Amino acid sequence: MTTAKPHAPRAGLAAGAIARIAAVALLAVAGFVAINGAHAATIEFVNQNAPGVGFNDPTPALPVGGNPGTTLGEQRLNAFRFAADIWAAHLVSEVPIRIGAAFLPLDCNATGAVLGAAGANQVVANFPNAPIVGPWYPTALAAKLAGVDFAAPGDPHIVARFNSRLGLFPDCVPGLTFYLGLDRRAGDQIDLVATLLHEIAHGLGFQTFTDDETGAFLLARPSVWDFYLIDNRRERVWAQMTAAERVASAVTWRGLSWNGPFVTMSTPSVLSPASVLTIGGASAGAAAGDYAVGDASFGPPIRNAPVSAQLMPVIDQANGTGLACSPLSAVNALAVRGNIALVDRGTCDYVVKARNVQAAGALGMIVADSQPGEVAGMPGLDTSIAIPSARITRADGQRLKLALQNRARTRSGLVARLQSDPTRLAGTDSRRRMLMYTPSVNAPGSSVSHFTTEATRNLLMEPSINSDLRYVVTPPGDLTLPLLGDIGW
Ligand SMILES: [Zn+2]
Repeated sequence: MTTAKPHAPRAGLAAGAIARIAAVALLAVAGFVAINGAHAATIEFVNQNAPGVGFNDPTPALPVGGNPGTTLGEQRLNAFRFAADIWAAHLVSEVPIRIGAAFLPLDCNATGAVLGAAGANQVVANFPNAPIVGPWYPTALAAKLAGVDFAAPGDPHIVARFNSRLGLFPDCVPGLTFYLGLDRRAGDQIDLVATLLHEIAHGLGFQTFTDDETGAFLLARPSVWDFYLIDNRRERVWAQMTAAERVASAVTWRGLSWNGPFVTMSTPSVLSPASVLTIGGASAGAAAGDYAVGDASFGPPIRNAPVSAQLMPVIDQANGTGLACSPLSAVNALAVRGNIALVDRGTCDYVVKARNVQAAGALGMIVADSQPGEVAGMPGLDTSIAIPSARITRADGQRLKLALQNRARTRSGLVARLQSDPTRLAGTDSRRRMLMYTPSVNAPGSSVSHFTTEATRNLLMEPSINSDLRYVVTPPGDLTLPLLGDIGW
């Protein structure tokens, strides 16, 4: 048997998984405990905050959303317990799972922040009952499978960190604080329970220990993750690929899938048919074809409200872009009435744009990204929005705008059709295997250790915490538990 210790959790965009190693230990196991029967797991909290801060913060707090704590620290603890109990009810292990947790200052600036980071505190290979001989397993899973606690007494199996400064300081997304209620009513705040569920999943094994930037295995050994992470163009898993091939696949859009039976059998019950934008019409020219889109959380789902009409841009800025953040001018309203409006991302919420183009008579809205990158969804909630919306990449937006240059005032000759693609689920490859997160610019600790942002519905293990997450880890609400089942839970 072999063990190793990864070091401090690494941070991703919104949350991260550990991957790097600081010290190595090769340990022999002295004795084994027999497993008898199966029942839910026990999760123990190891408070790693110093007195007076984090989970021990004595700042008075008013009870919120079913969280009766009267101090900030108590409320954080209650939220932790609530999330841990959800996981404990879904797992089976004879060995109690210890989570070392702390609120600490993590990376942030005025507009973005790391919410949390977590991962296994130790990895183990070639232990008794290991389903696959060779790869690293996270210590909590190895303990479950072997019926032996490989950690030293009291040592945590999982280390989790949460941002203590989030929303509380001018240099850390001021105003965007953790919501400490237990009732899924985070609104515009960040739901701490959802964040906890996400980070605990990383620690249970929702991560590779292989370096996603260099492709290097941890101490020359693949992770159990790497036996399920498959390059869907070559049909080879990470464990079989070279480091250079792993690096290339990690930044290939829609290039990596999860090849595990529990996840794949569950995708049809969890995901919706993929939405697609098709451009045609007499003036489409080189812009004709299918475009990948991200779905909106507001308005009717595209599968229930397909729409086809002339595509017309909103132009309300001096530089030729259209933000649609205020009611449309007469000229813009004339352009989008009875048509599908093309607007640009930025400055205001998506629902504000949708309200404005809907008020002007548009039948649908397409938002072109203002930043480079892959397609992603559009958050927001507004029950007054009755038109379908979709988001496209900046590059695709530029391609469409080029084709729209010769339009008339009320028609463009480009016909946009928003509909669902019956051959594909939103977030899977053509074999209905879940796509993994592979942004074209590597996001260390986030790339490959999350599900794709293309999933609809939104999933717990996407790289960001979406506002519509429920506290669910199983189908038909989520795919996190099936993935953990694939690796041995
Ligand atoms: Zn994460």
